[in-house]
Amino acid sequence: MTTGKINVSVENIFPLIKKFLYSDHEIFLRELVSNATDATLKLKHLASIGESKSEYGNPIIEVKIDKEGKKLHIIDQGLGMSAEEVEKYINQIAFSGAEEFLEKYKDSAKDSGVIGHFGLGFYSAFMVASKVEIITKSHTGAPAAHWTCDGSPEFTLVPSDKTTRGTEIILHIAEDSLEFLEESKIKGLLTKYNKFMPIPIKFGTKQEALPKPEDAPEDYKTEYKEVDNIINNPNPAWTKQPSELTDEDYKSFYRELYPMQFDEPLFNIHLNVDYPFNLTGILYFPKLSADLQMQKDKIQLYQNQVFVTDNVEGIVPEFLTMLKGVIDSPDIPLNVSRSYLQADGNVKKISNYITRKVADKLKSLFTENREDFEKKWNDIKIVLEYGMLSEPKFYEKAGSFVLYPTVDETYFTLEELKEKVKDTQTDKNGKTVILYASNKEAQHSYIAAAKDKGYEVLLLDSPIVSHLIQKLEGDNENLTFARVDGDAIDKLIEKEETQISKLSDEEKETLKASIETIVPKEKYSVQLEAMDSNAAPFMITQPEFMRRMKEMSQSGGGGMFGMGNFPEMYNLIVNSNSEFATSLLNTKDETVKANLVKQALDLAKLSQGLLKGEELTAFVKRSFETIK
Ligand code: ADP
Ligand code: MG
Repeated sequence: MTTGKINVSVENIFPLIKKFLYSDHEIFLRELVSNATDATLKLKHLASIGESKSEYGNPIIEVKIDKEGKKLHIIDQGLGMSAEEVEKYINQIAFSGAEEFLEKYKDSAKDSGVIGHFGLGFYSAFMVASKVEIITKSHTGAPAAHWTCDGSPEFTLVPSDKTTRGTEIILHIAEDSLEFLEESKIKGLLTKYNKFMPIPIKFGTKQEALPKPEDAPEDYKTEYKEVDNIINNPNPAWTKQPSELTDEDYKSFYRELYPMQFDEPLFNIHLNVDYPFNLTGILYFPKLSADLQMQKDKIQLYQNQVFVTDNVEGIVPEFLTMLKGVIDSPDIPLNVSRSYLQADGNVKKISNYITRKVADKLKSLFTENREDFEKKWNDIKIVLEYGMLSEPKFYEKAGSFVLYPTVDETYFTLEELKEKVKDTQTDKNGKTVILYASNKEAQHSYIAAAKDKGYEVLLLDSPIVSHLIQKLEGDNENLTFARVDGDAIDKLIEKEETQISKLSDEEKETLKASIETIVPKEKYSVQLEAMDSNAAPFMITQPEFMRRMKEMSQSGGGGMFGMGNFPEMYNLIVNSNSEFATSLLNTKDETVKANLVKQALDLAKLSQGLLKGEELTAFVKRSFETIK
């Protein structure tokens, strides 16, 4: 028997590991199953190049709970170790790795971003075990070895009578970690971390129905046999070539990834690159609900098919974190803090690559089947609009596929739209005015007025649309956006020929002054406009600039003037060419005049959706009076 002292300066590594990795005890299982997988894959490689005399066969990894003995076993049929190799790889290398880790992160250990993703490897077993045994036999035929250690630098190494190739790790679960003897706990961890690892992992057995025989009698009862319960899919879709996969394969992988997700994804993007970094994966565009509440099924990050985290912040550009799917890359440094991650050159390249792939995919969906792309537009627009605002590289490409739908569901690209409205919607100053509505119902009368003029009206209803418009205006000279209810239509797009006014300037002044004494002036600014005599006599609008600033400050980012707290202020536009304006001017009785103005104001409010509550009740009552 060999006993020895592992050469480390930290006296007792076990309490230290335990303390520093407190929140992430569960990763021990991922680490040990990863080691078992590595050992099996190494053997596979050696066998394939004729460097191992051992028959590779169909090796599996087994995880086994011994509740009574308070032990957890992880057994592999990989390449195993000789006693010398245990000395070298476990005592020297693994221990020094653990020590190095502690040295490095002792002070920053509270920074959980670091801890959570550091593969401490074999020694993480001591987070949950008071004693660890390794029983291992090398594929070379060297005698089997048995190593035991209780976490102190002392260990024993003795021969073992193990006859089969591979390694068995036995964890004597510590009293404070007995939860790791629960079947449901271990099953949960295996599903979380090892669901797509490349070697089959057995955890217990299960009953499998036997096929019904041809000559089965009427009262045939299904028969079962006991089979290995394999908890993983060793060949997940993202490890295959896109050419091997059908649409249905992608969809069924989505269900495998998110068993609790019932909506089908809209489309997927297969990522596959091996230079200058290595990355594979599949991203899915899900149907997004407008409220954008944080979804729990997120993009999962893997390293060589081992689950690492579902926090991909810093790796995937922010606007794409709303997508789902997997990314697998051995080139993402995980033993660093998030802020370092964002500064890492490789990570920046990965993020740019993903942005580019997504843009290319959208472009090809757009070109290959525009009709279908238009149908999906409402479900994907928020991601794209957000991308245009937050990612300059995406913005550059987005012009060719981002759509602007009209209230009648015609979809234009910005270029198409500009071309379409250039002649009709360019004002006397040479500015092309893009009209839009945010709500088809609420702004119906304004939309109708614009359409009467033969104008196109977009429907832009995303929460971040004000920011986007602001950006588009900045980048497109002579282009402005105006919401249809921002002013009278002739004011939104001012043409040379102004309407001839029926009223003289003096009459206008008198009318304006008398209306101003009736409507509350802290809320309305009265403006007389000579419009088409058939246009509505009174109209309420909210100036584009004011409304947009207000919206931007509410949705964050552009709230430069603290407009969120600004009082509601509207324009009351009076059509001085309407018959109503003339009769108002000719009404001498002040009470009658006041009633007329109130009624007209209420009608204008009603068509802007502003008449509510008590005011609405009073209005309805008053209106009934007039038809009695
Ligand atoms: P890493 O896996 O990053 O090398 P670990 O601390 O997890 O670090 O493991 C240290 C070394 O111990 C491994 O590199 C390997 O040589 C050896 N080892 C660990 N587990 C096994 C195993 N199940 N079979 C064979 N060798 C193993
Ligand atoms: Mg390891």
